[in-house]
Amino acid sequence: MSVQTNILSILNNLPQGVQLVAVSKYHPKESIEQAYQAGQRVFGESKVQELVDKYQALPKDIAWHFIGHLQTNKVKYIAPFITLIHSVDSFRLLEEINRQGQKCNRTIPCLLQIHIAQEETKFGFTPDECLSLLSEGKWQQLNHIEIKGIMGMASLTDDDNQILHEFSILQQLFQHIKSTYFSTTLSFCELSMGMSGDYPLAIQKGSTMVRVGSSIFGERNY
Ligand SMILES: *Cc1c(COP(=O)(O)O)cnc(C)c1O
Repeated sequence: MSVQTNILSILNNLPQGVQLVAVSKYHPKESIEQAYQAGQRVFGESKVQELVDKYQALPKDIAWHFIGHLQTNKVKYIAPFITLIHSVDSFRLLEEINRQGQKCNRTIPCLLQIHIAQEETKFGFTPDECLSLLSEGKWQQLNHIEIKGIMGMASLTDDDNQILHEFSILQQLFQHIKSTYFSTTLSFCELSMGMSGDYPLAIQKGSTMVRVGSSIFGERNY
């Protein structure tokens, strides 16, 4: 299957209002160009250096999303151009994104990453940690970031019921945060969940953004 065919068949199955983030990490620029020619403009990357290289080489109307673990000392390299950071996992990182946003004279859209999966290695806030960050309120002073929603990953399992359960925890948390902290704005509107193996389940639970890599580009060579 070609990249173009894969993209078109995924887009055909996405309901209105669900955005496809094509996860191009570890894939060459040529693969991104193929997707671009199929009309795809939103790409997700998880390594800063790789993202910067691709940003510099590829068309400037691409919207780049950062989806990997982001170290505070590297925020400055992506701050000038990043469209959305999905993976904010500490207040310190939020502060640094704010500082770099200020330097570039822009407001950087962010999602708070929530850890719900069983695997230990995944980064992110627990739902409780996320709620205490929000209730502390210090984030309200950060004028160069905009919290647009939350991102999460389900466990790696074949058990659809468990995956659905985890996505529905994210969905409820999203609704709770939206009504508690963002009821007077439309800006908190993104629920980023769903990958190649589970995005149809994520859509059932209200995902607004699916991050799909291998179903588009094939297996990654690490
Ligand atoms: C790699 C990655 C994806 C894409 O995974 P696939 O299984 O290849 O679709 C999605 N989200 C995050 C956070 C990732 O790191």
